[in-house]
Amino acid sequence: MITSTKPDARRNASPYLYGQEAAAVAQVLESGQYGHSDVTEEFEHRIAEFLGVPDAVAVSSGTAALHTALLAAGVGPGSEVIVPSMTFCATVQAILAVGAAVRFIDVDPATLCVTEQLVRDAVTDATAAVVPVLFGGRAADLMGARGELNARGIAVVEDAAHAFGSRSGPHLVGTAGALTCFSFGPIKNLTCGQGGMVIPRTPEEADTVRRLRLLGVQEPQGERANTTTYRVGGFGMRYQLSAINAAIGLAQLDHFATTADTRRHLWRTYRDALAPLDSVTLVDVDVDNAVPHLCQILTPHRDRVFTALRARGIGVGVHYPPNHLQPAFAAWRRLLPATERVGREVLSLPFHQHLTETDIDVVVTALGQALAS
Ligand SMILES: *Cc1c(COP(=O)(O)O)cnc(C)c1O
Repeated sequence: MITSTKPDARRNASPYLYGQEAAAVAQVLESGQYGHSDVTEEFEHRIAEFLGVPDAVAVSSGTAALHTALLAAGVGPGSEVIVPSMTFCATVQAILAVGAAVRFIDVDPATLCVTEQLVRDAVTDATAAVVPVLFGGRAADLMGARGELNARGIAVVEDAAHAFGSRSGPHLVGTAGALTCFSFGPIKNLTCGQGGMVIPRTPEEADTVRRLRLLGVQEPQGERANTTTYRVGGFGMRYQLSAINAAIGLAQLDHFATTADTRRHLWRTYRDALAPLDSVTLVDVDVDNAVPHLCQILTPHRDRVFTALRARGIGVGVHYPPNHLQPAFAAWRRLLPATERVGREVLSLPFHQHLTETDIDVVVTALGQALAS
């Protein structure tokens, strides 16, 4: 049995294994069916059941989920997609992959999420979709603006890579009527090793994503099909989730309640330990509803603190350098003052399930010393 041996607890992020993952993978390896298989479909059913939605479509990554979801929403060349600059670059690359223009917007520095007002201010006649990023596990469902967006034919495609299992009021993320994209990458709250999931709003969207993830092939291939041919109905990529990865996700899902409890406990421990420190602002999480993905602070002394903590072997990180300042996205650069300030001041503290209360004490003590020096 392979469980996570405790890695250096001061790493910024780490997967956490519960012990059944390796056996689940071994079973798939012995089965000889490594690609899309019944195991992948079982993972889809279990995720749909967990969320209480009719369907879920597994893909090979969160990036693939965003790419296929944008295509399923009808976004393409000539249209514009509103996205916060404060996100992982994958969100932006998925928009470029469909040939749409990028309209970067600011975030609320208190939550690192977009607000309804910021979205409203950015909508134009060219807007085809808004991609809110559910930063750190916070729900940012834009409920108050949904009516207006729907009336203008603007899709909400949620980047919920950080937010599997989080709730907004009574709604689990993925159940509030948006086209939702999860990532099950190595350090996400639930991991497949690599993987992603699209929660479609309609059966048509589900069919589209299923075709897109299998190279545009519409009918079963190989031994499943009793024909000498197959039908390529349209564009598609090799985006299916392998059974090997799905098996890891299934084993992880069995323990998700523990994952959620542990992450909430660790986040609250950090919150209490950080409270006495001057000149740091905790980026707040509604920890009763969210499953926290990161523990972040804002400090005007970020660069100095980053260097001092790294010198002590503490894996602090920056989520994220603003995308509107990246060379690849220079065509869509604009002035985004809140994002630029966050880009200078944000610091992610080590946050993963191998941490103990003692580890958190060590990190926060070192942080206090770095701030005081
Ligand atoms: C991880 C992540 C993605 C991409 O997911 P992958 O599974 O790594 O492709 C997209 N957006 C955000 C905010 C992420 O953190």
